[in-house]
Amino acid sequence: MNDYIKVSDITEYLRCPRKVYYAYQEHGPLRTITPPYIAALLIKEIAYEYAEVVISDDKVNKLHELLDSAIIRLPVIYSDEILDIDPEMIQKAATEVQNCFEGIKNGILNSIELFGMQLLLNLIPPHDLEPVLYSSKFHFSGSPDRILMLDNIASLSIIRTSTAPQTGIWKNDRIRLTALAILVEEDNGSTVDQGMVEYARYGIIRKVKIKRTDRRKVMILIGRIRKIKHGRLPERTKDALCDYCVYKEFCHVSSTLASRFF
Ligand code: SF4
Repeated sequence: MNDYIKVSDITEYLRCPRKVYYAYQEHGPLRTITPPYIAALLIKEIAYEYAEVVISDDKVNKLHELLDSAIIRLPVIYSDEILDIDPEMIQKAATEVQNCFEGIKNGILNSIELFGMQLLLNLIPPHDLEPVLYSSKFHFSGSPDRILMLDNIASLSIIRTSTAPQTGIWKNDRIRLTALAILVEEDNGSTVDQGMVEYARYGIIRKVKIKRTDRRKVMILIGRIRKIKHGRLPERTKDALCDYCVYKEFCHVSSTLASRFF
């Protein structure tokens, strides 16, 4: 599976194509662990268990319980990144997460109203082992956060810890969802025409159609990423957030005319 690219490469490419280049050149990212970064990891861990919050009579208390257990699990799950993390940083991250609890509770109550209790529970089944799916047709792989059954057809859900748009989902989330839907299709032999995006920081759950235009974009991006993997250095993107980039120490060189056509 060495020649497979990852769905996370597509997500990175959409942020800045050069990030994918540096990841494949095996430059170790110079990640600075910050309380907001830890908070995002904790929110994702808690979100896997939102079904427990849905059925709880005291939702905020349940969120506190889930946070406590996520804090214990985190150094084991992310042992490569945060094994010896400063307890003060964990405390700051936990406070940031707790500040989201009222919003998460309200979002979950709205979701219960929107979908009904039973359908909502079907949409956020308790987290099982993250399945890694492979496409032997297109040589890429990825892990949906949940595999679901929607109208008796296999589907999927992704959990995001970023801000949520007022309506719908962010463009990058649509592309990620579509790429993972293509993997679910190949795994199940059936067409996935809808999926879910969960904005975990707000308890928001949105159902989305998988569009043909996004399928086409995924195919195009896979081709471009494959070229980058084989050594093509892409141009810097004008609106890339370089100040926060884990590769900014390496990112000085310009692409040559030859590499652009590689
Ligand atoms: S420093 Fe800027 S241009 Fe370079 S990889 Fe990072 S985001 Fe992209």
